[in-house]
Formats: sequence, structure tokens, C-alpha cells
Amino acid sequence: MAANLLIHIPHASLCLPPDFWRDVMVDRKIIENNLHFMADYKVDELARDIDCHKVIAKYSRLYCDVERFQNDADEPMARLGMGAVYTHLPGGVQYRQVTPERRKEIIRQAYEYHHIQLNKLSQKIVNQYGSCMMIDLHSYSDDLVRLYGKSA
Ligand SMILES: [Zn+2]
Repeated sequence: MAANLLIHIPHASLCLPPDFWRDVMVDRKIIENNLHFMADYKVDELARDIDCHKVIAKYSRLYCDVERFQNDADEPMARLGMGAVYTHLPGGVQYRQVTPERRKEIIRQAYEYHHIQLNKLSQKIVNQYGSCMMIDLHSYSDDLVRLYGKSA
């Protein structure tokens, strides 16, 4: 195994923090169904036995998608309510109401936290081995790709 290998897994988590539910405006069942549909389900298990550095996003992308651009102006999926802090589900149903202040809070708690970990670790690997080889691990749902293409 390459010592400078870092596996990044942004979408496997099914975790929604308690404060997530504060903003939700649809039935819990709808969220639970989309939680699995939207996840790169069990991709983290594929990498479980690989002995290398890993950064795994703590929360579901329904809470915060750490692999979008932080600013909606830079993020093409933001016009569909699926920027770093989603407001809409695939298919266009709005599932939560997020004020600009609340968005900042979620970015701080989840997005920035994640990227600080990722930057620190990749920098540490570069310092130690001279380079860092990052593999970004996803799965692709045919249904999501049909809706949004590879940016899903
Ligand atoms: Zn993914």
C-alpha cells in the first residue's frame, strides 16, 4: 500500500445531526428514503480493510455536501437547491428551509470542519512523503446520473 495514499469518502454517511430536523418541512419518511438514495451507500465499507489514510465525511449530504463548492455562486448544482447546503431533493421537492445565517452555521459545523481535517492530513502526508495521492471514492446511482449527470 502506498504510504502517501489518502482515500476521501464524502457521501457514505447516513448520519443526520439532531439540529438537522429543525429546518425540515417534509415528512420524516421522505427524508429517510432519500437518505439512502442519495448516499454512496456502504462505499466506506469497501475501503474498510484498506490500510491507509482516510477522511470520511461525518454527515449525510442531506445535511451538508462537503464536495460542492462552498459558495453557491461557484456551484452549478446550487440552482437546483443542491449546493453545499441542500434545500431540495432530487426531483425538485423542497425539504428544508435554510436562512442565510443557518447556512453559515452548517457550513462552519460540517463543511469547514471537514475541509480543515482534509487539508491538515493531506499537508501532513505531503510533508512526510513528498506527495499525497488522493482517491475520491463514490458510487453512482443510475437514477441520480439520469437526473443530473455526473455532477450528481
Ligand atoms: Zn458521491
